[in-house]
Order: sequence, then C-alpha cells, then structure tokens
Amino acid sequence: MRPQIAWRSLGLLQRQSLRGPGQRAFQTAAKTRIPDFAFAFDIDGVLLRASKPLPGAADSLALLKEQGIPFILLTNGGGKHETARVAEISEKLNVPLDASHIVQSHSPFAELVKGPDEASALENKCVLVAGGDGDGCRRVAEQYGFRNVVTPGDIFMANPSIWPFSKNFSEYYKTFARPLPKPLDPTDPAKGLKIDAIFVFNDPRDWGLDTQVIMDILLSRQGLVGTLSEKNGQTNLPNHGYQQDGQPHLYFSNPDLFWAAAYPLPRIGQGGFREALEGVWAATTGGPSKGIELQKTVIGKPYQRTYEFAELQMLRNRSKVFGSIADQTPLQQVYMVGDNPESDIRGANSYRSPHGSSWKSILVRTGVYPGGEPAYVPTTIADNVQKGVHWALQNSNWSF
Ligand SMILES: [Mg+2]
Repeated sequence: MRPQIAWRSLGLLQRQSLRGPGQRAFQTAAKTRIPDFAFAFDIDGVLLRASKPLPGAADSLALLKEQGIPFILLTNGGGKHETARVAEISEKLNVPLDASHIVQSHSPFAELVKGPDEASALENKCVLVAGGDGDGCRRVAEQYGFRNVVTPGDIFMANPSIWPFSKNFSEYYKTFARPLPKPLDPTDPAKGLKIDAIFVFNDPRDWGLDTQVIMDILLSRQGLVGTLSEKNGQTNLPNHGYQQDGQPHLYFSNPDLFWAAAYPLPRIGQGGFREALEGVWAATTGGPSKGIELQKTVIGKPYQRTYEFAELQMLRNRSKVFGSIADQTPLQQVYMVGDNPESDIRGANSYRSPHGSSWKSILVRTGVYPGGEPAYVPTTIADNVQKGVHWALQNSNWSF
C-alpha cells in the first residue's frame, strides 16, 4: 500500500460527503448571527488536567454552545473510542457533546479501513495495534472496522520467548490476550502470522515488548513474524535494503514528546516511545548517519493531515447546524487553543487550510508550557482557556 496516496484520496472522499443529504437546517438561523469563526481546543492541559476540569473550561464551552459558535476538541490523546472519550469529557464539564465534537490522534486511522481502493483497504488484513490499557485500542480499531487485529500481548502469550522479560506481566496479558489468527511457526513461518500494517495507537505500556515485536516485523520478510529479510543491509538497494521486502507500513499517532499529567513536571508522552524506537532502529541498522531511515507515517498535531481532518469535521458540523445558510458566511477564522507550543501552536501556525480559513493560536498557561519564550510563538498567550476564549471573541468582534 502507498500511504501518501491513501491519505490524499481520503481527503477527496471526505470533501465529497461534506454537503451530503440529511442536513438539518438551522431553523432560527435567519434571526441568528452566524459566526465566521470557530474554535479547536486541545484537551489535556487546556480543558482538563489529570482528568479534572481546569478553571473556566466548563464555562467556556457552555458559552460557545449558548452563542451557537462551533468548536471541536482536537487532542493528541486517545486509547478509547471517540464516543467513550467524549462522554467522559461531557460529564466532567457538564456540556452535552457527541462524537462529532472530537478528533483524537488516532481518529484518521479509521479512514484506512476501506482505503481509497480495494487493494489498499486494511479491513480484512491482519494489523498490529500497539499501545493503551489492556486491549482497549484493539477494541477501538475494531469499532473503526478493522476485522483482524493482533496486539503485541497476543504474540507474547503465544510465544513468551519473543520477549522473556515480559513474563512478569503474564497475569496482565492473560486478561485480554486472544489466540493468534495464524500460528507463530518458527519451522515454517511462511504459513504463520503475517502482519499487514503496524499502528501505534496510544502510549505503549510495555515499551520493551512493543519495541521488540515492532522491530521483528520491520526486519522481517513481508511481515511474516519470525523471519528475517535477506535484503536488510544490502547497500545496493534503497535504504540499504531496510523496509524493501514487503514489510508492513508503520503508522504512529500522537507525536507529543511530553504531556501534562498530575505530576508537577511534564511526563514523557507517546512521542517518547517513537524516539526510543528510532534510537533502537538506528543502532540496529546504522541509522541516519549511514543514510538509513525508519520509514513511517506520523499523524496527530502538529501535522497538516490532522488539522485537515479536524477542519473537515468542523465544516461538516457547521453545515449540519446552519444548513446551506452556512455558505453565505464561510468559515474565515479558527482559534486553536492549546498548552503545547510544539504541537498545538506549531500545528496551527503552520497549517494551510484547503478551505481558505486562517488559524490563530492561543497558548494557555495551564499545561506543559512553563512560561518564557515558547519554541513556537502563538498569536497570543492567555492565563487559561476562558481568558483565551474571551480574547478570541473580542478579536472577532463578537459581543455576548
Ligand atoms: Mg495538551
């Protein structure tokens, strides 16, 4: 599969469905001001911290709801299905929300189930899903429509010698591991388990096992677990033969190196796992100093693809609420409110909207940003989300 083509085509599919049937016109739109702006909110460190509401968060969302101003939650978090995640947030902030209000880091993976064509579709292929508590991410992937999902825990329970140090966690893996769809057969791996795509959905809980299993598959022949490609290290081939033998593509969500948790200092995030894997990959293959890269696709903030996905969702929601009247007042401005200069602010600043909107970035002080000159300079800095929202409303001349 060629992932770049897949993503591009998916964008087209989404654009076609933007004005689909079944839209409900906004009955009172004629009497209502239609805002030409909208908001995208990060969650951790902006609306919640360690699952507790941050000051002004609930009031801010309630105000936007009351004023009919569209917003979306755009998070690099994940590990749960959108419906479950939004239900939790809705309860904590006491604001009614549904799954259309949230884009998580792994949400765009759902588009790969069908892909742009049958040959690229992963629906019936065998995919490895790493990260998250238990096999929660497997269940999310299944809800997206992937039918054949394997976790590193399944592989470990089928053959614990693949990473013997995880034997201490056997009781944990027993709670969710499933039999493999095909055996791990070292005598004839060609008939054994073959992985067709690797997804890191969320923060791995067992970095050692996940690193070993992903490395095994990346170095394998055609994704057959237990094989080793003879092309690895052949200098006459592109990338010195690495990932040139039909191995599955590697997808990461959430590139954040740090995130704001209950501990007073920022904690290593999912991006930390990717950096660690890149380090092991470089040490194993020779890495960038020898001209060898780890070929992969990374989605989540700050990447363009994720902002495009979020904006399409925002436009769909806007059409649903305002109907065709929304076209008379196109979306001009989006305010991204975030606590992480590296992802929220960088992404909003560099995003180029295919729909003509411009994005402003609001950095809040309630999360990972420690103060001082941020690595990526926002349009403005606010003490908390409420102050940020008020600044934006004033900037858009919206009286309330
Ligand atoms: Mg955050």
